[in-house]
Amino acid sequence: MARVRVIGDLWHGRVPDGAVYIGRAAPGLPRSVFANPHPVDKPCRPCGGLVHDRPGAVEAYRAGLTPELVARARVEIGDADVACWCAEEEPCHGDPLLEAIHAQTPPRAPQSPLTACGELSDISAPSPSPSAPTGTHSAERRP
Ligand SMILES: [Zn+2]
Ligand SMILES: [Zn+2]
Repeated sequence: MARVRVIGDLWHGRVPDGAVYIGRAAPGLPRSVFANPHPVDKPCRPCGGLVHDRPGAVEAYRAGLTPELVARARVEIGDADVACWCAEEEPCHGDPLLEAIHAQTPPRAPQSPLTACGELSDISAPSPSPSAPTGTHSAERRP
């Protein structure tokens, strides 16, 4: 669950073991569904030709993250690392993506297995029936 850098250059990129590639199409690397559609220092088509600086492109990606994409990222990335071309100290769209994956309160919360387990055991736990007084209960069980 960290951001790592693609190994090699643009023509010989290799994704580190255990990481999921989240960048644009490159030789040998298919475009990820998690790639940022907002380029840096180039007219941005989704934004009608606006030119983003690097932090601006990252913020545009954060703003465009849909619950559907985040849900998909939770399935396809989960606790794995994400690999992009950006240097680790540079702002990268992988940062808001990781934040969204690991956010405590997701936009549309799928039930986490832990919560579901707790709720189920609470519901099925035996509880005294309020309609049956304790006194008559022992009498019913008399042999
Ligand atoms: Zn844009
Ligand atoms: Zn990046």
